[in-house]
Amino acid sequence: MLRLILIALMGWIVWRLLAPAKIPKVKKQPEMPGVENVVACAHCGIYVPEREMLADTDGRRYCCAEHKKLGAGT
Ligand SMILES: [Zn+2]
Repeated sequence: MLRLILIALMGWIVWRLLAPAKIPKVKKQPEMPGVENVVACAHCGIYVPEREMLADTDGRRYCCAEHKKLGAGT
């Protein structure tokens, strides 16, 4: 009976040691800086990262609120 417990314990230890390695890594790699999409301002044409830009109702993007207010065109 004691041997059976010992085998079970050994099996549990082995399982505990192997279990973490079996878990697939679900964490996504953080996006590489510098590869983000850069878009030209519809007003002045300066290139700004897309996430920092302001879009108007027509989908045009501007580098700042002032240019958004001024609208497209030079
Ligand atoms: Zn601009």
